[in-house]
Amino acid sequence: MNSPRLEVDLRKLRHNTRTLVERLAVGGIRVTAVTKAVCGHPAIARAMLDGGAVGLAESRLSNAKRLRKAGIDCPITMIRTPMLSQVDDVVKTCAASFNTQTAVISALAAAALRQNKVHGILLMVKMGDLREGIRPDDLGDIAQKVTDMPGVALTGIGANFACMQSIAPTAAKMRALSAMANDVEARCGPSLRTVSGGNSANLPWALGPHATGRINDLRIGEAILLGVDPITGEPIAGLHQDAFTLVAEVIETDAKPMRLLTGKVDHTLVRIRPVPEASDVTRIILALGNQDTDAASLLMPSGCSHIGATSDHLVIGTKDPALCVGAEMRFGMTYSALMRVMVAPDIQIELYNGRPEPTVRNTDGPAKHLALV
Ligand SMILES: *Cc1c(COP(=O)(O)O)cnc(C)c1O
Repeated sequence: MNSPRLEVDLRKLRHNTRTLVERLAVGGIRVTAVTKAVCGHPAIARAMLDGGAVGLAESRLSNAKRLRKAGIDCPITMIRTPMLSQVDDVVKTCAASFNTQTAVISALAAAALRQNKVHGILLMVKMGDLREGIRPDDLGDIAQKVTDMPGVALTGIGANFACMQSIAPTAAKMRALSAMANDVEARCGPSLRTVSGGNSANLPWALGPHATGRINDLRIGEAILLGVDPITGEPIAGLHQDAFTLVAEVIETDAKPMRLLTGKVDHTLVRIRPVPEASDVTRIILALGNQDTDAASLLMPSGCSHIGATSDHLVIGTKDPALCVGAEMRFGMTYSALMRVMVAPDIQIELYNGRPEPTVRNTDGPAKHLALV
């Protein structure tokens, strides 16, 4: 087996998606699955679609193109406002995009006219986070402009919460977004197919005892991938938290009692944390580092603690005598650990429990199995 490697259990991802899709359906909310943390990995995207997501959302054009290249033909929405320099490819690759800038919307419209297409525009409203969005006061005017512009169609509005600030959306904010959807339609006609309430941070609201109003879509990444609430980090009941496991190999052990480093340490290079009861703790080194993942945010197996990491070494204190040179160690993932693993060239990605193999009939022989992962 290669190491370091990321083991991905696609069945658990299908389960997490299906569970959220079913729970949200009660309030009339669909799931758009966000693949940016996994760089648009096609098999992971397929697992989300198999679990009932109605479409995919991406923040990077390169990831959206990767999905298309793998043959995924569902609607893909760009959730980061498109770069002016990329509008042609955005129109080619994505059915719709979230937007905040009229200059970009005009450029998308021109690109769509050149391609004989109509590109869907969802307007992102600033409601709670300090990140992207149109001021609510400006929404009506911009919605009107989009409605009047050939080449684009106003298909939705949305809000985003808790990306820059850990502020969860409130029921009052969601009611305000619903009211904005009604106002836009009163002015521009009934065009809003999608009213997208936010991301995984909206789940406590969406699954709580609130009326969902006009909100009929959430863009969900982290809760599907890791089964946790992004604000509290708490597991969401009924979801798997271990669809992803990072496996790394021990390359050095130090049987002597550990002495804690004191004195001057450059904290930009090494983070030192004291290990409790240092006397019976063995210090081990793994072939894994910050170039592969966010080492400090890996979830440690019990009895192990993070001591420090550099670009290519991870130092751990452990009481487990089985962790000798050559042994493998398994880590649970957090969002920042996962998103870095997905871009690291040295991490092998191993997929498990792909789609059940369908039986296909071949004209010149008996039934054959076709692997789709
Ligand atoms: C990343 C992102 C999401 C998904 O957020 P999760 O916390 O992973 O569910 C949704 N919407 C926008 C605009 C995003 O940038």
